[in-house]
Amino acid sequence: EVRVRFAPSPTGPLHIGGVRTALYNYLLARKLGGKMLLRIEDTDQNRFVPGAEEYIRQSLEWCGIELDESPWVGGPHAPYRQSERKPMYMQYAQQLLDSGHAYYAFDTPEELDALRARLTAAKVPNPQYNSITRSQMRNSLTLPEDEVKQLLDSGTPYVIRLKVPRKEEVRFNDLIRGWVVVHSSAIDDKVLMKSDGMPTYHLANIVDDHLMEITHVIRGEEWLPSAPLHVLLYRYFGWESTMPQFAHLPLLLKPDGTGKLSKRDGDRLGFPVFPLEWHGVDAETGQPTVSSGYREGGYLPEAFINFLAFLGWNPGTQQELFTMQELIEAFTIERVSKSPARFDQNKVRWYNEQYLRAKPDAELAQYLVTELNEQGIGVDYPADKLEQIAGLVKERATFSADLAREAQLFFERPSSYDQQVISKKWNAQVAGGLTEFAKALPAATDTTPDGIKALLTQVLEQQGIKIGQVLQALRVTVTGASAGPDLMHIMSILGPQETAERIELAVS
Ligand code: GLU
Repeated sequence: EVRVRFAPSPTGPLHIGGVRTALYNYLLARKLGGKMLLRIEDTDQNRFVPGAEEYIRQSLEWCGIELDESPWVGGPHAPYRQSERKPMYMQYAQQLLDSGHAYYAFDTPEELDALRARLTAAKVPNPQYNSITRSQMRNSLTLPEDEVKQLLDSGTPYVIRLKVPRKEEVRFNDLIRGWVVVHSSAIDDKVLMKSDGMPTYHLANIVDDHLMEITHVIRGEEWLPSAPLHVLLYRYFGWESTMPQFAHLPLLLKPDGTGKLSKRDGDRLGFPVFPLEWHGVDAETGQPTVSSGYREGGYLPEAFINFLAFLGWNPGTQQELFTMQELIEAFTIERVSKSPARFDQNKVRWYNEQYLRAKPDAELAQYLVTELNEQGIGVDYPADKLEQIAGLVKERATFSADLAREAQLFFERPSSYDQQVISKKWNAQVAGGLTEFAKALPAATDTTPDGIKALLTQVLEQQGIKIGQVLQALRVTVTGASAGPDLMHIMSILGPQETAERIELAVS
């Protein structure tokens, strides 16, 4: 059985890269009939941010990414929060100590600083605690056994480090990148257990993936450098035969392609990088901050998800619109790209437009009424007219809020008239023609858009005026503006009486 996991750390709001990781995991699980689980990786207590876990939960819910196992619904491998699994990890660190793949290190922070300073001064490119430098430090590989015992017995603080071999090639086959080969000299002796008895990310992640029977690890490219270390851990635990397959997802780039999309880019560049609005605190000033979210920005979750799916994946066909179900059917890891994906805010707007306009007019009418009510605008049209209005204005809308803006003319008479049109198109003949049209309207028998147009043409003909001479002026008298939805439809929905009154008001 395929089992995948999304393993966020609750260190702040989930950014769109994280949502994409969750989405790809979910798509694979559903496609292959497997399980999708979520594990909260909160072993780093210093970076814990209150509210972040709840934010993750609500974001996934809004996106429609369902979890089969999680801290919130439980599951056969509960608990799903690493802080609650704390007592389980020591035995695994002990196993590595016993087999000689890990060791105690007693170095104080000052000693570690001194090591770093020494290596930096010697121009060592990437200062590390590794197979070479550990010989100069205070740990169970360099101290006599009885001294180690004494230090432990006296309660001296220690960490447990992985003993990374000196000269070995570590290789694994990444589902997206192919063979990845790293020389062990590039890996440092990572801490597995911290002095407070908490495991580090690396230990907890590997132990949990193993215990939770994870088959595929799908995560962001920033974890690629950690993967060789993880492979070593699987080997030393004797779990190589059930080691999950790795798939490292391509980076997300800024819209101009100049670098990695960061959590700060959104508000700087004027588009959201978070699924939901986030209320945080500025780390430096302590002031409350608000970061914009797709939900509050008026985006539909279907549009957001469809957009995200295409950031690093494509179906290999021309089709761009995919429901979640269609994504599940079409998704394969093989079609995930190796190269970075560039974020494009116009594309996500385009998706929203497509999904908004595809909604039934009755549903759009609902949005419209809600929005207008919020603005304190009275809505006294029957349901079928509201649907017609929604159907008419949606072609000019990207967000549901646009519906209300575009539809306002149906609910309020113009308070001013576009002066440019008036000065160019208005004259005595036009005014006369429109007055006659207004007089004829109340007796109109056919009030469909075509019927209204026929009446207008007929009245104008009698005056010797062509329809093209008055159309702009007529639009301005009825709506106040020089542009908008189809005028005949507008007049048809407003009805002959209201249309006539608006014309008379404008002409007088
Ligand atoms: N806790 C890690 C994160 O926040 C998970 C990385 C992984 O999936 O292994 O991204």
